Amino acid sequence: MTASTQDHDTPLWLFADQLGPAFYGGPHAKRPILLVEAESALRRKHFHRQKLHLVLSALRHAKADLGDRATLIRAGTYREALHSYGRPVLVHEPTSHSAEKFVHQLRSDGLVAEVLPNPGFALSRSEFGHWARQKDGRSRSRFRMEDFYREQRRRFGVLMEGSQPVGGRWNFDTDNREPPPKGHSILAVPPPFRPVEDDIDAQVRRDLDAMGIDTVGSDGPRLFAVTPREAQEALAQFIEHRLALFGRYEDAMLSDDWAMSHSLLSVPLNLGVLHPLDAVHAAEQAYRDGAAPLPAVEGFIRQILGWREYMWQLYWHFGPEYLDSNHLGAHTALPDWWTNLDADAVQAECLRQALAGVRDRGWAHHIQRLMVLGNHALQRGYSPRALSDWFASAFVDGYAWVMPTNVIGMSQHADGGKVATKPYTSGGAYISKMSDHCRRCPFDPKKRLGEDACPFTAGYWAFTHRHADLLSANMRTARAVSSMKRLTDLDAVLEQERHRQVF
Ligand SMILES: Cc1cc2nc3c(=O)[nH]c(=O)nc-3n(C[C@H](O)[C@H](O)[C@H](O)COP(=O)(O)OP(=O)(O)OC[C@H]3O[C@@H](n4cnc5c(N)ncnc54)[C@H](O)[C@@H]3O)c2cc1C
Ligand code: SF4
Repeated sequence: MTASTQDHDTPLWLFADQLGPAFYGGPHAKRPILLVEAESALRRKHFHRQKLHLVLSALRHAKADLGDRATLIRAGTYREALHSYGRPVLVHEPTSHSAEKFVHQLRSDGLVAEVLPNPGFALSRSEFGHWARQKDGRSRSRFRMEDFYREQRRRFGVLMEGSQPVGGRWNFDTDNREPPPKGHSILAVPPPFRPVEDDIDAQVRRDLDAMGIDTVGSDGPRLFAVTPREAQEALAQFIEHRLALFGRYEDAMLSDDWAMSHSLLSVPLNLGVLHPLDAVHAAEQAYRDGAAPLPAVEGFIRQILGWREYMWQLYWHFGPEYLDSNHLGAHTALPDWWTNLDADAVQAECLRQALAGVRDRGWAHHIQRLMVLGNHALQRGYSPRALSDWFASAFVDGYAWVMPTNVIGMSQHADGGKVATKPYTSGGAYISKMSDHCRRCPFDPKKRLGEDACPFTAGYWAFTHRHADLLSANMRTARAVSSMKRLTDLDAVLEQERHRQVF
C-alpha cells in the first residue's frame, strides 16, 4: 500500500510559504512535518537580502514552534532533502507553475505520495473553476474583480445583512483614497507592529553572510511577522490602531512616512503564517464592534478577499504563457540603477523614495508600486517580463503567483486589458495631488518641457503618443489622445523624452 492521506502518520512536507496552522493543523495535526532549506532555491534569483532573511527566519521559527514533530533538513536541493529523509511525503499544491510541475515529477518518482489542495486561500481553485464557467459551461468571456469580490462576500458571508451588503453598498472607494492630510509629514497613527529579533534571526544573519549569496538591497532589522503568533500580533495591532485610517489614505504618499496606514501583512499572508480569512474576520469584527468605520473596513476587506484572492486565482486561470504577454511591444531593458536599487542615482523624488523603500526594506506600498514604479516602467517601455522578475525578487512579499496579474496585467497592460480596462499611467499632476514629494523635487509636475520638466508629465505624453491608436480605440483613454493632439509643443516634448538620461 502506498502512503496516502488515509495514513495519519504519513509525513507532510511544507514549502516555505506554507508555514501556518491552515497547512499543518486540522486533519494534519498529528503528521510529522518536513521542512527544507534548499540552497538552490535561495540562489535561484538575485533576491533581496531581507527576503532571504524572512524566508529562513520563517522556516527556522516553524521548526522551533513545531519542536520534535518537525524535521528541518538543509540540503543543496529539495530532491536531495527528500532522498535523505527517506520516506514519501504529502505536500500541498505549491504556489507556482514550476513548483507544481516539480512536485508532480516527485510524485512520479515516488518521493511524494500525494499532492493535496492548497488550503492557504479562502476560495479553492476548484470552486473558482465553477465560478469562472458560465451557466452554459463555457468560460466567462470577461472577468471583473468587482463581480468576483461580490461573490466572495456572499459566499463567505462577509459584511452582509442577509443577501445585501452592509450599509447598502458593495464599494466605498469614493469615500476612500484621499490625498494626504495637509500640513502633516506623517499620518497620525501609531507605528506598525515591529517583531523582536531573537537568536534565530541572529543565526540567519550569520548564515547568510557566510553563504556569500549575491543579493540586492541592504540588510536591516526584521520588519515583518514570520510566525503565526507574530502575525496575529501584527494583525491585532493593525486592526486596533491603524485600520480606521486605512481606506482614507490608502493611495496617499508621504516622504517621511514609509508605512502610512498600510497593514504590512503581505509578508505573513504570503508565507502562509496568516490565513486571509482571519484578517478579513478581524476587520469585520472591528466594524461590528464600532471600532472602525465601514469605508475603511470594506476597503481593507476588498484588498484581501477581493484583490488578493482574484490575483491568485487568475494566476492559475491564465496559465504560464500569460507571463510572456507583451501587448504594448515593450522591450527596453531595466536600467542598472533600477536593478541595483541605486536610489541615490535618481533625482525624481517620488521615484527616489519608492526605490529607496525597496532598497532599505524590500517593500513599498501599493500606490508606489502601481503609480510610481509601475507608471515609470510603463512610460519608458520596460520589458514586462523583466519587470515582473524584478518585482518577484526585489520585494520581500514577491512570489511567482502574485506577479503576473499585478505586473504584467494591472501595472503594464501587457495582457491587452484582461485584468485592467485601461493602462494605469498618469503625469505628475496625480503624484503631486496624492503626495508631498513634488515639493522636494528638482522637477516641476506642471512642466512637460525644459530642464525641470517632470519625467512623469512628459513621459505621459510620450507614452500617449507611442500608443495613440490603441488609446483612442478605448473609450476610457480616447480623451488623452485628443488632449495630446492639442499640445503645440508635442514634437519638442517627444524629442526631449527620446534623449532623457536623468530621472
Ligand atoms: C506592480 C505591483 C506589484 C505588486 N507586487 C506584490 C507582491 O510582490 N506581493 C504582494 O503580496 N502584493 C503585491 N502587490 C499588491 C500590493 O501592492 C501589496 O500586497 C501591498 O502593497 C502589500 O503591503 P501591505 O501588506 O501593507 O498591504 P495593504 O495595503 O495593507 O493591503 C492589505 C493586503 O491586501 C492584499 N492585496 C492588496 N492588493 C493586492 C493585489 N493587487 N495583489 C495581491 N494582494 C493584494 C495584500 O495581501 C495586502 O497585505 C503588487 C501590486 C502592484 C501594483
Ligand atoms: S515633480 Fe514629477 S518627478 Fe518630481 S516628485 Fe513630482 S511627479 Fe515625481
